[in-house]
Amino acid sequence: MTTGRHTGPGRGDPAPTGSGEPGPGGVPGAADPEPPGRIWPEHLRPGRVSEVAPGVRRVIAPNPGYMTGPGTNTYLVGGDRLALLDPGPDDDAHLDCLLETAGDRLLWILVTHTHVDHAPLSTRLAERTGAEVIAFGPPPRPGPGGQGGDAHYAAFAAHRLFADGDRLDGGDFVIEAVHTPGHTSNHLCFELVDQRLLFSGDHVMDGSTVVIAPPDGDMATYMESLQKVRARTTRRIAPGHGDMIDDPAAVLDEYLRHRRGREAEVLSVLAPGVQRGINSEVIVDLIYQDLGEELRKVARLTVWAHLRKLGSEGRASTPDRDDPEAPWYLAPPAAAREPEIF
Ligand SMILES: [Zn+2]
Repeated sequence: MTTGRHTGPGRGDPAPTGSGEPGPGGVPGAADPEPPGRIWPEHLRPGRVSEVAPGVRRVIAPNPGYMTGPGTNTYLVGGDRLALLDPGPDDDAHLDCLLETAGDRLLWILVTHTHVDHAPLSTRLAERTGAEVIAFGPPPRPGPGGQGGDAHYAAFAAHRLFADGDRLDGGDFVIEAVHTPGHTSNHLCFELVDQRLLFSGDHVMDGSTVVIAPPDGDMATYMESLQKVRARTTRRIAPGHGDMIDDPAAVLDEYLRHRRGREAEVLSVLAPGVQRGINSEVIVDLIYQDLGEELRKVARLTVWAHLRKLGSEGRASTPDRDDPEAPWYLAPPAAAREPEIF
């Protein structure tokens, strides 16, 4: 999702499946929500088929919205034998467009993760073409309070599972899986090896940061996965939402800088709350300004994700890390936990 590019109500709006944390100025997707009804540039409109790299075409699904930016990007790679990445939502027009574009040459359907704006069309597309569905694994189980359940395509089924480093040899191309948990635990990026072009799904997107929605979304692993991708020699990124990214290192550095900054802000407001503790909602009021209702939900998830990371590192504590409403405390310094005897 791209928070700075609101297009008004869209099919993918309610579930935090995409990205879109409001960020400080200068960050991708900075908090400058545009009025509803934004018109996307011609090349980012639903149904457009564009060649974005040699042998790589992008088709945009008709699901623009808060969480999806211009819509979910579906990519086609190859010539006589095609691989398709992220089929998108279960939508008749998008299915027709993909069948028309891929014809009977579609052999593989690669799915970056099982969120409802990326995976559902894999079922009908595989039925119609006989293509093999490849992904990291099934949807995760919802959290204790059911959190995150409706964000995933529950009926998702893969024919083949890929782990980190697994490769698909398409004849005139090779695609390598890069396990990048964080946005979801089952998230894979895929790299087109000869071009060092990374299909980043929702791990990195154009013009926005990414939503990390606990409990399956995990800020600590997300930041590790950002560093993992940063350490590669990726030349370009083809994201799951928005336009091509030509400067991966700069964008990844900015993502990491933004997350570290947000974490520092969360820590700083925890300090005065030591006595009674404060929850994610209060923290959102303290560190974000002027958010609409949709962005507030996203901001609360983000803060909760940061708190859980701080908790797992022993820097913050809570009676129940699985309760989004629970109060959090700054972890007492070691001296307070173990008073000096001598
Ligand atoms: Zn997603």
